[in-house]
This record gives sequence, structure tokens and C-alpha cells, in this order.
Amino acid sequence: MNVALRSAPSIVAAQPVDPLDHLAAHLFHPLGADGVYARTALYEGIVDKLAALISRHREAGTEVMRFPPVMSRAQLEKSGYLKSFPNLLGCVCGLHGTEQDINAAVSRFDAGGDWTTSLSPADLVLSPAACYPVYPIAASRGPLPAGGLRFDVAADCFRREPSKHLDRLQSFRMREYVCIGAPADVAAFRERWMVKAQAIARDLGLAFRVDTASDPFFGRVGRMKAISQQQQALKFELLVPLRSEESPTACMSFNYHREHFGVTWGIDDADGAPAHTGCVAFGMDRLAVALFATHGIDTSAWPASVREVLALD
Ligand code: ATP
Ligand code: ZN
Ligand code: MG
Repeated sequence: MNVALRSAPSIVAAQPVDPLDHLAAHLFHPLGADGVYARTALYEGIVDKLAALISRHREAGTEVMRFPPVMSRAQLEKSGYLKSFPNLLGCVCGLHGTEQDINAAVSRFDAGGDWTTSLSPADLVLSPAACYPVYPIAASRGPLPAGGLRFDVAADCFRREPSKHLDRLQSFRMREYVCIGAPADVAAFRERWMVKAQAIARDLGLAFRVDTASDPFFGRVGRMKAISQQQQALKFELLVPLRSEESPTACMSFNYHREHFGVTWGIDDADGAPAHTGCVAFGMDRLAVALFATHGIDTSAWPASVREVLALD
């Protein structure tokens, strides 16, 4: 009995360790939840340099907007998010009752009970991607000019997909370039960005490949949507083999939504047809983790060309 107990720790120690785990102590401080971390100065310095690098690649005539980590629940509902990814959504809740109701909830908590049964949903959700709020803003401006509109957006995003893996966070930063225009404008935009993004990844010294992909649509109907998305090549990803070639990590995605947001928000292109939209998304935290995983934690020892492109001094 005792012998068996004493041997237990070695079984624990023999459990496989994720190849990214050794980075954790240098990049993050735990905050008590998987996929939610405080960031070290070393890590955040690289995220800042990456953001500046992406800004240097911004195309002329692109309007910059920065969004908060929450957005209108009604707008996200109207965007169709619940049809595709209801399992990932985080909704803001609050104690919205009378003073008496709220005091009762707090008293329950003080007595060791559950205060959360008194919560009710607010009119806000946690933004699951950076580009959702830009479409209603564009719609409010009336018909698109010839050539369409381009935006540079960013937000802290939330997805309820807790994981111990450092490249799958619940709270992460997303930067996007978005194009809203005629089908040809969006097709050309995505073509340009697939070339530019690969140049950026090459400059950063990352190993990668670009492949068609599908979104993780929820449920059985979702699996059909994913197949159709693949077949139509509506989504591509820039994949970095952080663990293995077989299960690489998507650090950027190139998305063509066709007329989905144009029809939803009533955006017309210069010819009066429903606008098409597309976006290129940069996973800022995944790119930073990929850099440290590839080049090590000592940034002074990173290849000179990588230091130069990131303007590290
Ligand atoms: P995955 O297939 O890995 O779940 P996704 O298809 O859900 O990614 P997108 O919806 O295209 O990702 O989001 C754009 C980018 O945001 C991704 O390419 C990735 O770099 C980043 N991203 C998405 N989910 C996460 C996450 N949980 N943690 C960190 N970064 C993420
Ligand atoms: Zn987007
Ligand atoms: Mg995902």
C-alpha cells in the first residue's frame, strides 16, 4: 500500500509535457484560469513590436479603429454568431434586480451560497473576433464608394475554449485588416494579403504553410457548414508547426464572407449590389508565442534579420 503510494509521483512526472510549456514561466503569470494569463514585459515587448510591424504593412486609405473587449449583444446576435459558434460565446451578466434582490444575492454569497443564480444577461457580449463591430459602422455611412472601404481593427477577444496549451487562450488579441466592397475588390484584397502575410511570416523566420481551412462550426449542422466552407475555399490559414507538422497552429487567417455581412447590415456596393466582405486576421498572441517557440526566449540571440524586421534595439 505504502509502496504504491510512494511510486505515484513518478507516474505524474512521466505524463507527456506539451512542447510549449517551457515558455510559460518566461512569458506569462498564472491568473487562476486556463488560457487567461498576465503577460511579462519580455512577451508584451514582442507583441508591441509585432503590432508595429503589421501597421507598417497597412495599405494606404485604410481607416484605423480600435474596439473595446465588449460589443453590443444585439449586433453579434444579428451577425449570426449563435448559429455558428454558440459554444464559444461569453456574455456579460450582472445583478440587475432591485436593491433588495441584489442584497439578497450578496447575503447568499456571504453565507457560503451561490450568488450567481441572481445574474441576468446584460446587453453586452465579449467580442469573439475583432471585425464584427465594423460592419454596422460601415453600413451607417450609406452606399460604398467605388473600390470599397478598408479598415484596420483590433480587439481583445474572448472564446470559451479553455486549454492548457499556450497557443489556445480564452482571452487573446486579434488584429485585422477588413475589406468591404464589390466581389472583385474583396478577392483582390485577399490575394494581396495572402502574399503579404507570407512575406511577413518569412521575415519573422517562422516555418509555415498556407492551407484551406474551416471554422469550428458547432454541432452536426456545423460540420456540413465546415465542409461547404472548405469546398468553396472561403478560409485559408497560415499554419506554423509549433508541435508537429500534422497539428500546426493557425497564426493568421484569410476569410471571405461573401455577401453575409453586406446582406445582414444592408451595405450596398457602388453598383447597388450587396457588398462582399473579407478579412485577414493576425493572432497577436499566437504570433508572439510562435516567435519565442522558434527563436528562444533570449531575444538578443534572435537572428539579426528577425531583430531588424521587428526593429528590436
Ligand atoms: P483555430 O482553428 O486554431 O481554433 P480559428 O479558426 O478559430 O483558429 P479565427 O477565427 O480565424 O481562428 O481567428 C483568427 C486568428 O485568431 C487565428 O488565426 C489565431 O491566430 C487567433 N486565435 C483564434 N483562436 C485563438 C485562441 N483560442 N487563442 C489564441 N489565438 C487565437
Ligand atoms: Zn474578421
Ligand atoms: Mg477556433
